[in-house]
Amino acid sequence: MSAVTIELGSDGILVATMDLPGRPMNVVGDALMDGIAAAIERLADPKALGLILTSAKADFCAGGDLDSMSKWTRPEQPFEASMAMKKVLRQLELQGKPVVSAINGHALGGGLEIALACHARIAMADPRLKIGQPEVKLGLLPGGGGTQRLPRLVGIQQALQIMVEGNDMSPQQAQKIGLVADLAADRAELMAKARAWVLAHPAAKQPWDEPRFRFPGGDSRSPAVAQLFTVAPSMASAKSWGNYPAIQHIMSSVFEGGLLDFDSACIVESRYFAACSMSPESRNLIATMWYQLNAIKKGASRPAGVPASKVKKLGILGAGMMGGGIAYVSAKAGIEVVLLDTSAEAAARGKAYSQGLLDKAVTKGRSTPDKRDALLARITPTTDYALLAGCELVIEAVFEDRAIKAEVTKKAEGVLGASATFASNTSTLPITGLAQASVRPKNFIGLHFFSPVDKMPLVEIIVGAQTSDETLAHGFDYVLQIGKTPIVVNDSRGFYTSRVFATYLAEGIAMLKEGVHPRSIEVAGQQAGMPMPPLALQDEVSLSLSLHVFEQTRKDLAAEGKTVVEHPGTSVVRQLCEIGRVGKKAGKGFYDWGPEGRTLWPELTKLYPPAAQQPDQRELIDRLMFAQANEAARCWQEKVLRSVADANIGSIFGWGFAPFQGGALQFIDAMGAKAFVVRARELAAKFGPRFEPAALVVEQAEKGGRFAD
Ligand code: NAD
Repeated sequence: MSAVTIELGSDGILVATMDLPGRPMNVVGDALMDGIAAAIERLADPKALGLILTSAKADFCAGGDLDSMSKWTRPEQPFEASMAMKKVLRQLELQGKPVVSAINGHALGGGLEIALACHARIAMADPRLKIGQPEVKLGLLPGGGGTQRLPRLVGIQQALQIMVEGNDMSPQQAQKIGLVADLAADRAELMAKARAWVLAHPAAKQPWDEPRFRFPGGDSRSPAVAQLFTVAPSMASAKSWGNYPAIQHIMSSVFEGGLLDFDSACIVESRYFAACSMSPESRNLIATMWYQLNAIKKGASRPAGVPASKVKKLGILGAGMMGGGIAYVSAKAGIEVVLLDTSAEAAARGKAYSQGLLDKAVTKGRSTPDKRDALLARITPTTDYALLAGCELVIEAVFEDRAIKAEVTKKAEGVLGASATFASNTSTLPITGLAQASVRPKNFIGLHFFSPVDKMPLVEIIVGAQTSDETLAHGFDYVLQIGKTPIVVNDSRGFYTSRVFATYLAEGIAMLKEGVHPRSIEVAGQQAGMPMPPLALQDEVSLSLSLHVFEQTRKDLAAEGKTVVEHPGTSVVRQLCEIGRVGKKAGKGFYDWGPEGRTLWPELTKLYPPAAQQPDQRELIDRLMFAQANEAARCWQEKVLRSVADANIGSIFGWGFAPFQGGALQFIDAMGAKAFVVRARELAAKFGPRFEPAALVVEQAEKGGRFAD
């Protein structure tokens, strides 16, 4: 079966319908491009007046075929593949008859590039339909002519924004900027409008093939665009710290292409495409943000054999910051929510959190009063446990206190059905211990949300010693139901995310104690690709909370007859807490926090005077990243982690581990265990045994093997 079926209508219009066999979506690869080439050949038929390119699948075309791209090992391969695709697309626009794309679904990446090679684009008016060039998000650039056609169609500035940010547009937005010629209400209208367009434009030509073509807004030589190029690259670098070479490559391709004729510009683009495809950043992003994320979403960590479930009624105990947020995201997903607290006022405050978010959305035009009211009507604030009857799931988000958690668990179980799942949102208390308060520990699980709940994409599911597969599957299904990404980990102190995240903060703080200038520490965090520098982040988390967790851990371990090794950073946290500098919530920590933002506390360098000899930034960056990666490896070794995908996605979505590194374990895989062990040992010799590489990585270095194997 061919990837593109071609039919000549009685009106003389060829319709080429993309429908890649055996794939849920159309993706750009040899099969699809061969099909388009065949359609071009058919256009040579004198009876054919023009061509409509559309798709039989739900999407128009979703992008490049990452499976084949992942096999490239030499830069010639992406270069040649990109040139071959462009050869077909160039023929498509130069063969002399009008071609229009009828965009019936998402047109992304290579899909949009195909549409750009048509003389016009008509799209369904569905605002959920996505149009865009998201390649940059996987460390790539549009290599099918996108960096050349888009600027020539919508102007360099607009095109750069689309490609550098990688965000999708709705068809309405695309029409506004002149990317789409017309919109259609349904499929019949789409095809009718496409036919009419072909018949009305017998001599269609691309603007860039007109002899007097001018870039809209000017080419790279024009003063306005030249000015743009003096600031845009440095602005992008200020944000990305140079960790995303695809951004620079896109800009270079557009800039250089804007000095050249179209065909030469296409060659330049292919060279930059090859550079992106071969980059470790793109390899890491594709491995994690594409393959591993998709595996997670498809349920790789969910026990097979348990039927899929849906929560219709959810109970939430504790209507504070977390409870209020969980109520919002759940009601948004259509779930009835009972939001319980100790007083009617506290419960109402929890619901008011949703009201606040929704009012803002209505003001900004992102929601309507009707939708807001319907969502709010699904949240019932109460103090009455009887209302929990019939809930399939209850999530506890009361104070972080074992006794209170035990009490609410018992009260809730008194009214819940035997099959209901009980989840705790604890951030630090081991789940197996909390489950002791439950009469059915098999139904007990950890669902660790992140703050702010409405923004953070991850939920860490914690499996206690007695948690059943059914309970895990229920928890997993619920997390997907509310549109979040689940990772599954085994029970342990700090679970996975809090435990590894803490090493980033602690390492940064330890540097301060050694006399590293605080500004160097903060810059190192950002150079490393972390979303926030360590000292500022510790202020956000609050120093008193971290100290409390540390003291609790010390007490718990002492009760087990164990001693805890204090991280060198802890004494700094203790000292600042003693003088009331507990973090952002107090307006003071490592920084002074004011309405204007944060500034480093001037006295900090008096308390911790910077050494005369400051270390190399590379060493600081390595310390911050090795501390995290090594702790993640230990979590793997101790079987806290159950899959590499969970480790990598959990690190990026949970605490913002540098995405271009592909996650905490991919960091080691990409570097290679041997190199990791050598550097980790150097750091251990200089800064302490916490850097001694995890035994498993040492074994990988000696015998071969990677986490992802
Ligand atoms: P919070 O103080 O904002 O809210 C706790 C709520 O629980 C309050 O409204 C309180 O009135 C209510 N509550 C206390 N005792 C109760 C009882 N017996 N019955 C019913 N309600 C009761 O706290 P939070 O930040 O929302 O944290 C809640 C839980 O979530 C804690 O276990 C915390 O460790 C965990 N958590 C917090 C974060 C975070 O960033 N804040 C992140 C992940 C997990």
